[in-house]
Amino acid sequence: MDIQSFLLLAVLFVAVAIGWVMGRGARYENESADDQSNYFRGLNYLIDEQPDSAVDSFIEALEVNDQTLETHFVLGQLLRRQGQPDRAIRIHQNLLARPGLDASYRFRAKYELALDFSSSGLFDRAARILDELVSEKNEYRDLAAQKLLGIHLSEHEWEAGVQLIDRLSSRRFGLSSKARPLRRVKSHLCAQLAEDAIKAGDFTLAREWLSTAKDADDNCPRAWFIEVQLAQAEGKYSQAKKALARVIDHDKARVPYYLSYAHDLYSSDHDLNGFLKYLGVAIKDGAPEVFQLFYLRTLVALKGPADDEVKRKVTALMATTDSLIATKLYLDVLRQASNGLGSELALLQRVIGERIGKHSLFKCTNCGFKGQQLHWNCPSCKEWESIVSNYDVGVKF
Ligand SMILES: [Zn+2]
Repeated sequence: MDIQSFLLLAVLFVAVAIGWVMGRGARYENESADDQSNYFRGLNYLIDEQPDSAVDSFIEALEVNDQTLETHFVLGQLLRRQGQPDRAIRIHQNLLARPGLDASYRFRAKYELALDFSSSGLFDRAARILDELVSEKNEYRDLAAQKLLGIHLSEHEWEAGVQLIDRLSSRRFGLSSKARPLRRVKSHLCAQLAEDAIKAGDFTLAREWLSTAKDADDNCPRAWFIEVQLAQAEGKYSQAKKALARVIDHDKARVPYYLSYAHDLYSSDHDLNGFLKYLGVAIKDGAPEVFQLFYLRTLVALKGPADDEVKRKVTALMATTDSLIATKLYLDVLRQASNGLGSELALLQRVIGERIGKHSLFKCTNCGFKGQQLHWNCPSCKEWESIVSNYDVGVKF
Protein backbone atom coordinates (compact mmCIF):
# COMPACT_ATOMS: atom_id res chain seq x y z
CA MET A 1 0.00 0.00 0.00
CA ASP A 2 1.47 3.39 -0.93
CA ILE A 3 1.62 6.26 1.53
CA GLN A 4 -1.26 8.20 -0.11
CA SER A 5 -3.63 5.22 0.08
CA PHE A 6 -2.61 4.69 3.68
CA LEU A 7 -3.34 8.34 4.53
CA LEU A 8 -6.70 8.19 2.76
CA LEU A 9 -7.69 5.09 4.71
CA ALA A 10 -6.51 6.65 7.96
CA VAL A 11 -8.70 9.73 7.28
CA LEU A 12 -11.68 7.53 6.40
CA PHE A 13 -11.15 5.38 9.48
CA VAL A 14 -11.09 8.40 11.78
CA ALA A 15 -13.90 10.18 9.91
CA VAL A 16 -16.24 7.21 10.26
CA ALA A 17 -15.40 6.91 13.95
CA ILE A 18 -16.01 10.65 14.54
CA GLY A 19 -19.20 10.52 12.47
CA TRP A 20 -20.42 7.73 14.71
CA VAL A 21 -19.70 9.51 17.90
CA MET A 22 -21.18 12.85 16.79
CA GLY A 23 -24.18 11.41 14.99
CA ARG A 24 -24.90 8.70 17.56
CA GLY A 25 -27.76 10.48 19.24
CA ALA A 26 -29.62 11.11 16.01
CA ARG A 27 -29.55 7.54 14.71
CA TYR A 28 -31.92 4.65 15.13
CA GLU A 29 -30.55 1.34 16.35
CA ASN A 30 -31.28 -0.69 13.18
CA GLU A 31 -29.48 1.92 10.95
CA SER A 32 -26.36 1.90 13.08
CA ALA A 33 -26.19 -1.92 12.94
CA ASP A 34 -25.65 -1.76 9.15
CA ASP A 35 -23.09 0.98 9.53
CA GLN A 36 -21.25 -0.97 12.21
CA SER A 37 -21.16 -4.02 9.99
CA ASN A 38 -19.69 -1.96 7.09
CA TYR A 39 -17.21 -0.34 9.45
CA PHE A 40 -15.86 -3.63 10.75
CA ARG A 41 -15.83 -5.11 7.25
CA GLY A 42 -13.70 -2.12 6.25
CA LEU A 43 -11.34 -2.80 9.12
CA ASN A 44 -11.02 -6.43 8.03
CA TYR A 45 -10.20 -5.38 4.47
CA LEU A 46 -7.67 -2.95 5.87
CA ILE A 47 -6.02 -5.72 7.91
CA ASP A 48 -6.08 -7.99 4.83
CA GLU A 49 -4.39 -5.18 2.84
CA GLN A 50 -7.28 -4.73 0.39
CA PRO A 51 -7.39 -0.89 0.38
CA ASP A 52 -10.00 -0.55 -2.40
CA SER A 53 -12.53 -2.74 -0.60
CA ALA A 54 -11.73 -1.01 2.68
CA VAL A 55 -12.42 2.43 1.16
CA ASP A 56 -15.78 1.19 -0.20
CA SER A 57 -16.83 -0.23 3.15
CA PHE A 58 -15.84 2.93 5.01
CA ILE A 59 -17.80 5.07 2.53
CA GLU A 60 -20.86 2.85 3.14
CA ALA A 61 -20.39 3.19 6.89
CA LEU A 62 -20.16 6.99 6.86
CA GLU A 63 -23.69 8.13 7.51
CA VAL A 64 -24.91 11.41 5.99
CA ASN A 65 -26.05 13.70 8.80
CA ASP A 66 -25.52 17.33 9.79
CA GLN A 67 -22.37 16.44 11.73
CA THR A 68 -20.70 14.49 8.90
CA LEU A 69 -21.55 16.73 5.90
CA GLU A 70 -18.16 18.48 5.96
CA THR A 71 -16.40 15.12 6.31
CA HIS A 72 -18.17 13.88 3.16
CA PHE A 73 -17.02 16.95 1.21
CA VAL A 74 -13.42 16.56 2.41
CA LEU A 75 -13.41 12.86 1.53
CA GLY A 76 -14.96 13.50 -1.87
CA GLN A 77 -12.24 16.03 -2.72
CA LEU A 78 -9.55 13.73 -1.36
CA LEU A 79 -10.74 10.79 -3.45
CA ARG A 80 -10.98 12.90 -6.61
CA ARG A 81 -7.47 14.28 -6.10
CA GLN A 82 -6.26 10.73 -5.53
CA GLY A 83 -7.53 9.82 -8.99
CA GLN A 84 -10.63 7.99 -7.73
CA PRO A 85 -13.44 10.17 -9.15
CA ASP A 86 -15.88 7.22 -9.29
CA ARG A 87 -15.85 7.00 -5.49
CA ALA A 88 -16.07 10.79 -5.19
CA ILE A 89 -19.14 10.65 -7.47
CA ARG A 90 -20.77 8.14 -5.10
CA ILE A 91 -20.10 10.37 -2.11
CA HIS A 92 -21.54 13.50 -3.76
CA GLN A 93 -24.53 11.63 -5.20
CA ASN A 94 -25.24 10.26 -1.70
CA LEU A 95 -25.23 13.81 -0.38
CA LEU A 96 -27.60 15.03 -3.10
CA ALA A 97 -29.96 12.11 -2.43
CA ARG A 98 -30.41 13.25 1.16
CA PRO A 99 -33.92 14.69 1.62
CA GLY A 100 -34.06 18.24 2.95
CA LEU A 101 -30.40 19.03 2.21
CA ASP A 102 -29.79 22.72 2.79
CA ALA A 103 -29.65 24.74 -0.49
CA SER A 104 -26.04 25.92 -0.01
CA TYR A 105 -24.87 22.31 0.57
CA ARG A 106 -26.89 21.17 -2.45
CA PHE A 107 -25.14 23.72 -4.71
CA ARG A 108 -21.78 22.76 -3.27
CA ALA A 109 -22.44 19.03 -3.77
CA LYS A 110 -23.54 19.69 -7.37
CA TYR A 111 -20.40 21.68 -8.08
CA GLU A 112 -18.18 18.95 -6.59
CA LEU A 113 -20.09 16.30 -8.55
CA ALA A 114 -19.47 18.27 -11.77
CA LEU A 115 -15.73 18.31 -10.94
CA ASP A 116 -15.87 14.52 -10.36
CA PHE A 117 -17.51 13.94 -13.75
CA SER A 118 -14.97 16.23 -15.39
CA SER A 119 -12.11 14.28 -13.76
CA SER A 120 -13.67 11.06 -15.08
CA GLY A 121 -13.72 12.49 -18.61
CA LEU A 122 -17.56 12.59 -18.55
CA PHE A 123 -17.63 16.18 -19.83
CA ASP A 124 -21.26 16.08 -21.05
CA ARG A 125 -22.55 15.20 -17.60
CA ALA A 126 -20.24 17.75 -15.96
CA ALA A 127 -21.39 20.45 -18.41
CA ARG A 128 -25.08 19.72 -17.71
CA ILE A 129 -24.63 20.22 -13.96
CA LEU A 130 -22.46 23.31 -14.40
CA ASP A 131 -25.05 24.77 -16.77
CA GLU A 132 -27.70 24.34 -14.06
CA LEU A 133 -25.44 26.08 -11.54
CA VAL A 134 -24.81 28.96 -13.95
CA SER A 135 -28.58 29.37 -14.46
CA GLU A 136 -29.39 29.65 -10.75
CA LYS A 137 -28.35 32.32 -8.30
CA ASN A 138 -25.83 30.68 -5.94
CA GLU A 139 -22.33 31.20 -4.61
CA TYR A 140 -20.81 28.66 -7.04
CA ARG A 141 -22.08 30.36 -10.18
CA ASP A 142 -18.82 32.15 -11.04
CA LEU A 143 -16.74 29.02 -10.43
CA ALA A 144 -19.21 26.91 -12.41
CA ALA A 145 -19.13 29.40 -15.31
CA GLN A 146 -15.33 29.36 -15.34
CA LYS A 147 -15.22 25.56 -15.29
CA LEU A 148 -17.93 25.27 -17.96
CA LEU A 149 -16.07 27.67 -20.24
CA GLY A 150 -12.91 25.60 -19.68
CA ILE A 151 -14.79 22.44 -20.76
CA HIS A 152 -16.13 24.17 -23.89
CA LEU A 153 -12.59 25.26 -24.78
CA SER A 154 -10.97 21.87 -24.14
CA GLU A 155 -13.72 20.16 -26.16
CA HIS A 156 -13.40 22.77 -28.97
CA GLU A 157 -17.06 23.76 -28.52
CA TRP A 158 -16.41 27.31 -29.69
CA GLU A 159 -20.04 28.30 -30.35
CA ALA A 160 -21.18 26.96 -26.98
CA GLY A 161 -18.40 29.07 -25.43
CA VAL A 162 -19.64 32.19 -27.24
CA GLN A 163 -23.22 31.52 -26.10
CA LEU A 164 -22.09 31.05 -22.50
CA ILE A 165 -20.17 34.33 -22.53
CA ASP A 166 -23.20 36.12 -23.98
CA ARG A 167 -25.31 34.73 -21.11
CA LEU A 168 -22.72 35.74 -18.51
CA SER A 169 -22.31 39.21 -19.97
CA SER A 170 -26.00 39.97 -19.76
CA ARG A 171 -27.07 42.15 -16.86
CA ARG A 172 -29.28 39.39 -15.45
CA PHE A 173 -26.16 37.58 -14.26
CA GLY A 174 -24.60 40.68 -12.74
CA LEU A 175 -21.11 39.84 -14.01
CA SER A 176 -20.54 43.17 -15.76
CA SER A 177 -17.29 43.76 -13.82
CA LYS A 178 -15.84 40.71 -15.58
CA ALA A 179 -17.19 41.68 -18.97
CA ARG A 180 -13.87 42.98 -20.34
CA PRO A 181 -11.82 39.75 -20.06
CA LEU A 182 -14.89 37.81 -21.17
CA ARG A 183 -15.19 40.01 -24.28
CA ARG A 184 -11.56 39.26 -25.08
CA VAL A 185 -12.18 35.50 -24.79
CA LYS A 186 -15.32 35.84 -26.91
CA SER A 187 -13.33 37.66 -29.59
CA HIS A 188 -10.82 34.80 -29.69
CA LEU A 189 -13.56 32.17 -29.93
CA CYS A 190 -15.25 34.07 -32.79
CA ALA A 191 -11.85 34.44 -34.52
CA GLN A 192 -11.38 30.68 -34.17
CA LEU A 193 -14.82 30.12 -35.74
CA ALA A 194 -13.88 32.53 -38.56
CA GLU A 195 -10.63 30.61 -39.10
CA ASP A 196 -12.52 27.31 -39.27
CA ALA A 197 -14.97 28.85 -41.80
CA ILE A 198 -12.03 30.05 -43.96
CA LYS A 199 -10.61 26.52 -43.95
CA ALA A 200 -14.04 25.18 -44.96
CA GLY A 201 -14.18 27.75 -47.81
CA ASP A 202 -17.25 29.52 -46.36
CA PHE A 203 -16.04 33.12 -46.62
CA THR A 204 -19.47 34.66 -45.90
CA LEU A 205 -19.68 32.84 -42.58
CA ALA A 206 -16.03 33.75 -41.87
CA ARG A 207 -16.83 37.44 -42.40
CA GLU A 208 -19.80 37.19 -40.01
CA TRP A 209 -17.68 35.62 -37.27
CA LEU A 210 -14.92 38.16 -37.90
CA SER A 211 -17.41 40.98 -37.49
CA THR A 212 -18.67 39.46 -34.20
CA ALA A 213 -15.06 39.04 -33.02
CA LYS A 214 -14.35 42.73 -33.63
CA ASP A 215 -17.59 43.79 -31.97
CA ALA A 216 -16.56 41.80 -28.88
CA ASP A 217 -13.06 43.31 -28.72
CA ASP A 218 -11.85 45.69 -31.40
CA ASN A 219 -8.27 45.40 -30.11
CA CYS A 220 -7.99 41.62 -30.42
CA PRO A 221 -4.85 41.03 -32.56
CA ARG A 222 -6.11 37.61 -33.59
CA ALA A 223 -9.25 39.14 -35.13
CA TRP A 224 -7.08 41.66 -37.00
CA PHE A 225 -4.92 38.81 -38.27
CA ILE A 226 -7.98 36.79 -39.40
CA GLU A 227 -8.82 39.74 -41.67
CA VAL A 228 -5.49 39.14 -43.45
CA GLN A 229 -6.11 35.41 -43.80
CA LEU A 230 -9.63 35.98 -45.12
CA ALA A 231 -8.51 38.50 -47.76
CA GLN A 232 -5.70 36.15 -48.80
CA ALA A 233 -8.08 33.17 -49.03
CA GLU A 234 -10.34 35.26 -51.28
CA GLY A 235 -7.35 36.10 -53.49
CA LYS A 236 -7.44 39.80 -52.51
CA TYR A 237 -3.66 40.16 -52.06
CA SER A 238 -3.51 43.94 -52.03
CA GLN A 239 -6.14 44.05 -49.26
CA ALA A 240 -4.34 41.27 -47.36
CA LYS A 241 -1.00 43.16 -47.49
CA LYS A 242 -2.59 46.38 -46.19
CA ALA A 243 -4.37 44.47 -43.41
CA LEU A 244 -1.13 42.72 -42.45
CA ALA A 245 0.74 46.05 -42.27
CA ARG A 246 -1.97 47.22 -39.83
CA VAL A 247 -1.52 44.04 -37.71
CA ILE A 248 2.26 44.57 -37.58
CA ASP A 249 1.76 48.20 -36.45
CA HIS A 250 -0.83 47.13 -33.89
CA ASP A 251 0.68 43.99 -32.32
CA LYS A 252 4.37 44.52 -31.52
CA ALA A 253 4.61 41.31 -29.46
CA ARG A 254 4.53 39.00 -32.48
CA VAL A 255 6.21 41.02 -35.25
CA PRO A 256 8.75 38.32 -36.31
CA TYR A 257 5.88 35.86 -36.79
CA TYR A 258 3.88 38.35 -38.87
CA LEU A 259 6.95 39.22 -40.96
CA SER A 260 7.44 35.51 -41.69
CA TYR A 261 3.81 35.41 -42.76
CA ALA A 262 4.28 38.56 -44.85
CA HIS A 263 7.27 37.00 -46.60
CA ASP A 264 5.13 34.01 -47.62
CA LEU A 265 2.19 36.26 -48.58
CA TYR A 266 4.27 38.47 -50.89
CA SER A 267 6.06 35.40 -52.21
CA SER A 268 2.83 33.62 -53.16
CA ASP A 269 1.80 36.84 -54.96
CA HIS A 270 5.23 36.79 -56.78
CA ASP A 271 5.96 40.17 -55.26
CA LEU A 272 9.12 39.87 -53.14
CA ASN A 273 10.18 43.27 -54.52
CA GLY A 274 7.00 44.69 -52.96
CA PHE A 275 7.98 43.09 -49.63
CA LEU A 276 11.44 44.65 -49.92
CA LYS A 277 9.86 48.05 -50.57
CA TYR A 278 7.53 47.69 -47.56
CA LEU A 279 10.46 46.69 -45.30
CA GLY A 280 12.64 49.52 -46.66
CA VAL A 281 10.01 52.14 -45.78
CA ALA A 282 9.56 50.66 -42.28
CA ILE A 283 13.37 50.66 -41.69
CA LYS A 284 13.57 54.34 -42.70
CA ASP A 285 10.81 55.02 -40.14
CA GLY A 286 12.97 53.43 -37.41
CA ALA A 287 11.57 49.87 -37.35
CA PRO A 288 13.46 47.36 -35.10
CA GLU A 289 16.36 45.16 -36.23
CA VAL A 290 14.14 42.22 -37.16
CA PHE A 291 12.94 44.25 -40.17
CA GLN A 292 16.59 44.55 -41.32
CA LEU A 293 17.05 40.79 -41.02
CA PHE A 294 14.02 40.17 -43.22
CA TYR A 295 15.14 42.89 -45.61
CA LEU A 296 18.61 41.38 -46.04
CA ARG A 297 17.28 37.83 -46.24
CA THR A 298 14.94 38.89 -49.08
CA LEU A 299 17.70 40.90 -50.76
CA VAL A 300 20.04 37.87 -50.68
CA ALA A 301 17.25 35.69 -52.12
CA LEU A 302 16.56 38.18 -54.94
CA LYS A 303 20.08 39.30 -55.86
CA GLY A 304 22.35 36.55 -54.52
CA PRO A 305 25.13 36.86 -51.92
CA ALA A 306 27.70 38.08 -54.50
CA ASP A 307 25.77 41.27 -55.27
CA ASP A 308 27.59 44.49 -54.24
CA GLU A 309 24.57 46.02 -52.48
CA VAL A 310 24.04 42.76 -50.55
CA LYS A 311 27.71 42.64 -49.46
CA ARG A 312 27.69 46.26 -48.35
CA LYS A 313 24.43 46.05 -46.37
CA VAL A 314 25.11 42.67 -44.72
CA THR A 315 28.63 43.78 -43.70
CA ALA A 316 27.23 47.04 -42.30
CA LEU A 317 24.64 45.14 -40.22
CA MET A 318 27.30 42.75 -38.85
CA ALA A 319 29.16 45.75 -37.43
CA THR A 320 26.18 46.62 -35.22
CA THR A 321 24.58 43.32 -34.20
CA ASP A 322 25.25 40.06 -32.33
CA SER A 323 22.37 38.33 -34.10
CA LEU A 324 23.05 34.71 -35.10
CA ILE A 325 20.76 35.15 -38.07
CA ALA A 326 22.76 38.14 -39.33
CA THR A 327 25.92 36.04 -38.85
CA LYS A 328 24.44 33.29 -40.98
CA LEU A 329 23.67 35.79 -43.76
CA TYR A 330 27.17 37.26 -43.44
CA LEU A 331 28.67 33.80 -43.93
CA ASP A 332 26.66 33.53 -47.17
CA VAL A 333 28.40 36.67 -48.38
CA LEU A 334 31.85 35.51 -47.16
CA ARG A 335 31.47 32.15 -48.90
CA GLN A 336 30.97 33.94 -52.20
CA ALA A 337 33.97 36.17 -51.68
CA SER A 338 36.26 33.56 -50.11
CA ASN A 339 39.09 31.89 -51.86
CA GLY A 340 39.33 28.22 -50.93
CA LEU A 341 37.48 28.49 -47.57
CA GLY A 342 34.01 27.61 -48.89
CA SER A 343 33.68 24.23 -47.16
CA GLU A 344 34.95 25.55 -43.78
CA LEU A 345 32.52 28.46 -43.92
CA ALA A 346 29.70 26.10 -44.93
CA LEU A 347 30.50 24.00 -41.84
CA LEU A 348 30.41 27.09 -39.63
CA GLN A 349 27.15 28.15 -41.24
CA ARG A 350 25.62 24.71 -40.53
CA VAL A 351 26.68 24.88 -36.88
CA ILE A 352 25.08 28.33 -36.51
CA GLY A 353 21.95 27.09 -38.30
CA GLU A 354 21.65 24.23 -35.80
CA ARG A 355 22.08 26.64 -32.88
CA ILE A 356 19.28 28.82 -34.26
CA GLY A 357 17.08 25.75 -34.80
CA LYS A 358 17.37 24.78 -31.13
CA HIS A 359 15.81 28.04 -29.97
CA SER A 360 12.05 28.38 -29.51
CA LEU A 361 10.22 30.83 -31.73
CA PHE A 362 7.64 31.60 -29.04
CA LYS A 363 7.51 31.92 -25.27
CA CYS A 364 4.77 32.52 -22.70
CA THR A 365 5.27 35.70 -20.68
CA ASN A 366 3.08 34.26 -17.93
CA CYS A 367 4.44 30.75 -17.29
CA GLY A 368 7.59 30.49 -19.42
CA PHE A 369 6.19 27.83 -21.79
CA LYS A 370 8.26 27.67 -25.00
CA GLY A 371 7.27 26.35 -28.39
CA GLN A 372 7.63 26.59 -32.15
CA GLN A 373 3.99 27.49 -32.83
CA LEU A 374 1.87 30.51 -32.05
CA HIS A 375 -0.93 29.70 -29.59
CA TRP A 376 -3.40 32.41 -28.64
CA ASN A 377 -4.29 30.45 -25.50
CA CYS A 378 -1.20 29.14 -23.69
CA PRO A 379 -1.36 25.30 -23.66
CA SER A 380 0.37 25.31 -20.28
CA CYS A 381 -1.13 28.11 -18.14
CA LYS A 382 -4.27 28.74 -20.29
CA GLU A 383 -3.66 32.51 -20.30
CA TRP A 384 -4.86 34.40 -23.38
CA GLU A 385 -2.41 36.34 -25.63
CA SER A 386 0.50 35.60 -23.30
CA ILE A 387 2.56 33.82 -25.96
CA VAL A 388 4.84 36.21 -27.81
CA SER A 389 7.64 35.97 -30.37
CA ASN A 390 11.11 35.26 -29.07
CA TYR A 391 12.76 38.25 -30.73
CA ASP A 392 16.36 36.99 -30.54
CA VAL A 393 15.70 34.10 -32.86
CA GLY A 394 12.11 34.68 -33.85
CA VAL A 395 12.83 34.46 -37.55
CA LYS A 396 12.65 31.27 -39.56
CA PHE A 397 15.70 31.11 -41.85
ZN1 LIG B 1 1.68 30.12 -20.21
